[in-house]
Amino acid sequence: MQSNKELQLLVEKAKRFSKDGKVADYIPALGKEDGNDLAITIYKTDNSYFHAGNFEKKFTLQSISKVLSLALVLMDRGEDYVFQKVGMEPTGDPFNSIAKLETLKPSKPLNPMINAGALAVTNMIKGKDLTEKWERLIQFVRALANDQQITYNEEVARSEFETAHLNRALCFFMKQNNIIEGDVESLIDLYTKQCAIEMNCYDLARIGAVFALNGFDPDSGERLIPEHIVRICKTFMVTCGMYNASGEFAIKVGVPAKSGVSGGIFAVVPNRYGIGIFGPALDEKGNSIAGLKLLEMLANEFEFSIF
Ligand code: GLU
Repeated sequence: MQSNKELQLLVEKAKRFSKDGKVADYIPALGKEDGNDLAITIYKTDNSYFHAGNFEKKFTLQSISKVLSLALVLMDRGEDYVFQKVGMEPTGDPFNSIAKLETLKPSKPLNPMINAGALAVTNMIKGKDLTEKWERLIQFVRALANDQQITYNEEVARSEFETAHLNRALCFFMKQNNIIEGDVESLIDLYTKQCAIEMNCYDLARIGAVFALNGFDPDSGERLIPEHIVRICKTFMVTCGMYNASGEFAIKVGVPAKSGVSGGIFAVVPNRYGIGIFGPALDEKGNSIAGLKLLEMLANEFEFSIF
């Protein structure tokens, strides 16, 4: 990538695909987004960056936050504890499916990128109460983005809290099976705030650079996440990060990535770039339709694939 102008041309091309997608509205507040939006920041590990589209526009992380809560919980509890409660296998099912929880014995969510697994992970964040757990999570995210202003979108969090009946069902099922403990309403409160953490493409790409550098802060050189934990997170991103289109994405793009129903995509090109994309029109699997096209174009042009 040589210039913002070059990137802008790719964004214009990819944007044409937005019309075939649809903005998510099962969380009512997300339905207000403009399906034509498409923005990207590519943050290079040498601290230079490229932008295109409305890259300052904030969006909520939704499922992208699952990677960050997983990193924190692995740091809090260690692998053995976490993987007693959550598995390591892709599902091929929709992100909010309850089906496998009931059929697998012993019952545990297949991985931390689906809702059941992510709820179990959020339940493991250390802290004496909800406030302390939330503070620890948001401080971790702020450190990764090097931005103390990052917080959550109250309207989106409330909108999801009021409508998250399926997520409540997953929690009650897991509580019955001793995967989660404590009060389900408090967990849904924490999880909906986590999913509503709001930032722009630049912040997300900057977090991506920390992952591209295996846990080091690109500015200060400080270690923010242990290397083996970054490796676990990136592996889950490859195997389960793009919903039940993760296999196709691995072939077409070939880098660790996680998407969210807000239309965000968080991608990591090891040792090279962190990438943040926002394009709220989604395809039928729940991935940003224009965002995927944009990543495909970039991957072809700049030989991203790690495979
Ligand atoms: N907050 C959303 C939910 O739990 C996240 C889903 C997603 O982005 O995949 O339904």
